[in-house]
Amino acid sequence: MQLSCDDDFVEAAVFTVSNGKRAGAPRLLARRFHVEREQCCSILDADDRQAAFVRVHFDWFREWGLEELLLGVINELPLPGPGLTTLAFRKARMRKEEGAELYVSAENGRIRVVAMRAERFESDEAVRDSLRIEFMHLSDMIDPNFGYTPDLRAHGMNPSHQRIARERYRLLWDITINGRLGRGSEGERQRAVFNEAFAFWPAERRNEGFTKLSTNKFPKHDELLALAADPRDLSHRDKPLPGGRCPLCGFSTFDWADLALLDDISRASVQRESPAWSPSQGACNRCIEVYAIARRYAEALPQ
Ligand SMILES: [Zn+2]
Repeated sequence: MQLSCDDDFVEAAVFTVSNGKRAGAPRLLARRFHVEREQCCSILDADDRQAAFVRVHFDWFREWGLEELLLGVINELPLPGPGLTTLAFRKARMRKEEGAELYVSAENGRIRVVAMRAERFESDEAVRDSLRIEFMHLSDMIDPNFGYTPDLRAHGMNPSHQRIARERYRLLWDITINGRLGRGSEGERQRAVFNEAFAFWPAERRNEGFTKLSTNKFPKHDELLALAADPRDLSHRDKPLPGGRCPLCGFSTFDWADLALLDDISRASVQRESPAWSPSQGACNRCIEVYAIARRYAEALPQ
């Protein structure tokens, strides 16, 4: 089995450590890392310089034990499915982009790709937790009894309905995974989000529904999709779910910003820093305030 990590995934992981966000990493080593990076800047040829950066990042990815951490977790968890040749890691910029995909190629056999945010490297537990969940996604995807199909397009749904159905589908799937993994602490957050997502059901049906999902040992794609695609409440939702993760900071929030009030300059600077973000994904008030303050500050500077 081969572990393959994209250059920008490795770079982002290494920066999490060098920025002091990973507990227990000695500051002195971070200084050595920065010195080595600065030395790369003096290489004149652009390709050689880029190659040198990549080398330094990979060296420190090993030095700081991040590669070992991934391999350790992979060894301790049962890898889903036969014929695994490569497990590839890609960088996710936002919580929403995290996930696992399965590709089959004639050349490389079955490849599993995990997209993960660099913030996960702040602790071993966060990496382990994230991989446990993604491996469950992968094992469902290849389990014929689950019956996964990547295309969630249902008849008669416009793109915005599809987005909500996809969001709900992911929530329902994650509830079953959480239940199967016995992660109790996450359960209450999920219940709050579930209650909001299915607010059009009577309370009793919501309670039953949630219990059924979180105790279901053998969920099926079609059943989850049928619930997710319930046409009620697909049309008027313009904000993400309470308790969902803000796509900008990745923290769970009940305080979503009213983006209709966001001025164009702040919106442009959000978009510049998070190119994959669109207002339809929402953002928490804390994040939006940061951009508003930065704009007021820029305006107050002498021209
Ligand atoms: Zn935020």
